[in-house]
Amino acid sequence: MGFELTRPQKDIQKAVREYVKGEFKREVIEELTEKNQFPEALWKKAADLGFIGIHFPETCSGQDLGLLENALVAEALCTGDSTVGAGLSLSGFASETLLRFGTEEQKSTWLPKVAEGEILSCGAFTESGCGYDLNVKGTTAVKDGDHWVINGSKNFVINSGPLAGFYIVLCRTKADAKPETNGLSLILVESDRPGISISDVGPKTGFNLMHCADVDFSDVQVPISNTIGKENRGFFHASDIVCENRILIAAQAVGIAQGAYDRALSYVKSRKMFGRKLSQFQVTEHKIAEMAAKIEMTRLLVYKAASSCDAGPVDPKIASMAKMCATRAAIEVADEAIQLLGGYGYMTEYEVERYYRDAKITQIIEGSCETQKDTIADALLKKRGKNR
Ligand SMILES: Cc1cc2nc3c(=O)[nH]c(=O)nc-3n(C[C@H](O)[C@H](O)[C@H](O)COP(=O)(O)OP(=O)(O)OC[C@H]3O[C@@H](n4cnc5c(N)ncnc54)[C@H](O)[C@@H]3O)c2cc1C
Repeated sequence: MGFELTRPQKDIQKAVREYVKGEFKREVIEELTEKNQFPEALWKKAADLGFIGIHFPETCSGQDLGLLENALVAEALCTGDSTVGAGLSLSGFASETLLRFGTEEQKSTWLPKVAEGEILSCGAFTESGCGYDLNVKGTTAVKDGDHWVINGSKNFVINSGPLAGFYIVLCRTKADAKPETNGLSLILVESDRPGISISDVGPKTGFNLMHCADVDFSDVQVPISNTIGKENRGFFHASDIVCENRILIAAQAVGIAQGAYDRALSYVKSRKMFGRKLSQFQVTEHKIAEMAAKIEMTRLLVYKAASSCDAGPVDPKIASMAKMCATRAAIEVADEAIQLLGGYGYMTEYEVERYYRDAKITQIIEGSCETQKDTIADALLKKRGKNR
């Protein structure tokens, strides 16, 4: 059993770290975070360097690599900056639905635009009243000749703004399906279709550079050929993709934890208290040791989850374990980082409070800690033949 990344994987980490060092300039990030502006120039540069859609096929402007490599990119970007890193690594959100289930034509039309930094992609799954339950009811797609007619509303759709290229919309396509999960489909809706209206969700605690909107679909018509994967299998396709996305969010969480830790480490090595450096107090040493151990533990779990997903088929239990543990570690490490910086930790200038705010959302999107535990327990208890 090997725990080492391969040379090409280490090279990817190195390349992203160099990009971060050269491009994530303090004044640029301060301006972006002050204005809550999507980091468009940084995104385009990251796309030019091949960091967006690294897991797409080469024919679609990717590098034919896997989720593990994509996770390494997300981690390094979020270590560099939690808010910019999250924005860049989620710029192709939900594109994996096309990657895994799309036709060759759908893939070759849309994936290059995402990888080349031409458009952002959106996944419109959540509805009010459904929350984490993908068995949605409120958005319907009804056939009319060779078109779907889509009606309904989706909540909290990230990337939904001026740069959005398309929405992957989870729609009910068979009203009387039994069970109900057999009546949903994923449909690609181009963002310039008539009948789409978006309204920004308003100020957020973290992930502040990303657009996030509620999206209404009113008699939106798209060709039946925009269906992704099998008709009425959308619930299952979306569930698979959610697992993959959980691992990506977990990788972001590892990066956020590392970034907060790095800043705290550098601070305690320079701050003097009572004639000694803060790092020379045993309390501080133990805090640093615990933070580093948490990051290392969760990193291993996330890499394992990503590698096993690449080897296939995706294991929901491991994906949920990685998401649950890494996102909790990110919160705990960022919290401790603020504490180590004392009053300065609470000031925006020192950045760790922003890492803490960005860490929090990783515990909510793509399934909360509570729902991850459900997934893990379901897998474990069913294996032992128990009935929950
Ligand atoms: C910044 C941001 C970006 C987002 N981006 C997207 C996006 O791009 N696309 C998209 O489709 N959605 C997106 N979401 C939506 C996100 O996935 C939802 O917020 C999430 O699905 C939870 O839904 P909810 O907010 O209705 O919470 P609820 O489902 O109401 O959950 C509330 C609480 O109840 C708990 N709970 C729920 N079900 C159970 C259960 N079975 N057992 C025990 N406890 C439970 C939860 O853990 C949570 O603590 C985003 C949300 C945010 C805040």
